[in-house]
Amino acid sequence: MGSNVTANVTIQQIADKVAAGGRVDRAEALRLYREAPTVLLGRLADGIRARKHPSRTVTYIIDRNVNYTNLCVARCNFCAFYRTVGSPDGYVLGFEEILAKIQETIDLGGNQLLLQGGHNPDLPIQWYEDLFRTVKAKYPDFKLHALSPPEVLHISRINGIPTRQVIDRLIAAGLDSIPGGGAEILVDRVRKALNCYSKATSDEWIDIMREAHQAGLRTTATMMYGTVDTDEDRIDHMMRLRDLQDETGGFTAFITWSYQPEHTEHGGYEATGVDYLRTLALARIVLDNFDNLQASWVTQGGKVGQLSLAYGANDMGSVMIEENVVRAAGAAYCMDEVEIVTNVEDAGFTAKRRNMHYEILGEPVFRERDVPRMLALATARAEGDTSVPEELKNYPARSRAGKALRLAQ
Ligand code: SF4
Repeated sequence: MGSNVTANVTIQQIADKVAAGGRVDRAEALRLYREAPTVLLGRLADGIRARKHPSRTVTYIIDRNVNYTNLCVARCNFCAFYRTVGSPDGYVLGFEEILAKIQETIDLGGNQLLLQGGHNPDLPIQWYEDLFRTVKAKYPDFKLHALSPPEVLHISRINGIPTRQVIDRLIAAGLDSIPGGGAEILVDRVRKALNCYSKATSDEWIDIMREAHQAGLRTTATMMYGTVDTDEDRIDHMMRLRDLQDETGGFTAFITWSYQPEHTEHGGYEATGVDYLRTLALARIVLDNFDNLQASWVTQGGKVGQLSLAYGANDMGSVMIEENVVRAAGAAYCMDEVEIVTNVEDAGFTAKRRNMHYEILGEPVFRERDVPRMLALATARAEGDTSVPEELKNYPARSRAGKALRLAQ
């Protein structure tokens, strides 16, 4: 349906089509986003959520968000987390530190690391392979949800290896799935304005996800909105994800959050909670081929996170044990498993633990055994810890600062 035709259609007619299970096109999505009352958007999204998840189960995962390095050559202007190469407060985590974080995660009932980091020029692909093999040798059943498409592209570039080969080698070393980070908005005009076009264009992000799906991996998809993006950009982003999902079926879930402006070069303001709920609901309507939508309570807070369950979300994402990126930009709400489950149950749903494939693992861990409460988020490194991991000297550095560091080791 073209935009001229859509202009003659009422919002109610588009709503009826959605309620009957129909697929909206770009023009219909735009009209809903701009004109439909928030309550109507919520009702439509909740209807889709109920069709896809009739048992009123809301899932969550216990995993740990570990950022293996903050050194990054990409320098996205919305990012408050990265440090330039050679910076005194730059870090690379050691294998032993990462193994210790895994053990703590397992002690809390967790089963996965979400492992992402900056684009560090001094970590060749062998570093990632050795890390993954070290983890799998000690914890064979523990899952590695690791390295977003721009990180895969960065590894491909610095090692001169095609992205598909990077994926295959990392799978052979123990990679289980790929997180959908680095998508921001999949519109190149926006990416250029955010200085993240060179880390991965929209096409490159999509192509790497296609390759990952073809290699047999499941991945997630994300959207960070609220910088310089327009309503049309957000919808174009969703359409690109929907098209790839039609093609491969490889996405397990979609997660959206608003840009967090504090301490960033880009600056500006944060989008409102209402904007978040409208965007989430629209995503639930547009992404009709995605099974799962996560609530982003880490950026929105527990109460908006709870409201998300009435606006299309069926998953509470991760019980955060550690968070570094969003916190660097000024926001990081903390909810441990007890609080997540309480929020879910207070909203009238049943809470269940899951894995990355959205298979149910069981009841909340704290109801099965004693686990420590986590009322504060862990950090990648204690403040002031500038230690350099022993094994780094085994990997050749490319940057001048990295070479100097190796010589000093
Ligand atoms: S968002 Fe990622 S790639 Fe961009 S500057 Fe931050 S750490 Fe680097």
